[in-house]
Amino acid sequence: MPALNLNNAEFIKSAANPNGFLRTDEPCIIFAGKSNVGKSSVINRVLNRKNFARVGAHPGKTIHVNYFHIDKKVYFVDLPGYGYASVAKTERERWGKMMEAFFSDPDRIDLGVMIVDSRHKPTKDDVTMADWFHSTGCPLVVVANKTDKLKKSEIEPNLKLIAETLSLDESAVLIPFSAEKGTGRELLLAELMKVVK
Ligand code: GDP
Repeated sequence: MPALNLNNAEFIKSAANPNGFLRTDEPCIIFAGKSNVGKSSVINRVLNRKNFARVGAHPGKTIHVNYFHIDKKVYFVDLPGYGYASVAKTERERWGKMMEAFFSDPDRIDLGVMIVDSRHKPTKDDVTMADWFHSTGCPLVVVANKTDKLKKSEIEPNLKLIAETLSLDESAVLIPFSAEKGTGRELLLAELMKVVK
């Protein structure tokens, strides 16, 4: 397995519309999930940084696709979070158009990291997202974040509910994770490394 220097992480650009999407032959790992699920925190935890991807950013300000270049070998693509009720209709429409454009080209994505809340049944939007991966055959890893907020006995049943709701099969990768504590980081990292050339 090639080495990846996670300390060598660079913010490349923020795309506010499809014209700004990055075209590259290098592998791209996308991070998707509903707003506030801890997407930025998961990216920061993977990179062992505190404030690299912004945490707790105002939802109206997050409708961008952010590109990070990791060790000049792989791109992390931070997609704007979905399902934020308080976002204005025009912004939601902008989000929809941008995501439609982004997901119109599965070749753009080498691996999807979908972050869900380990405490709750996945939302309708989560199911839509997972269905896109199932239908395109694009590789998917599901990260069940915030397990530190669960009792130990709750983790297994919740993972089962998540797997069922998202129609994950036996071979699917579902990682119990805590961005706060670092739980699951090594497992996720091993999955990410699989797409690094
Ligand atoms: P994003 O909107 O998906 O990028 O979410 P953020 O990374 O900004 O996190 C949203 C909130 O959830 C913040 O207050 C984080 O501190 C908190 N958070 C993120 N991950 C965890 C976790 O694993 N455990 C706990 N307890 N809180 C978390």
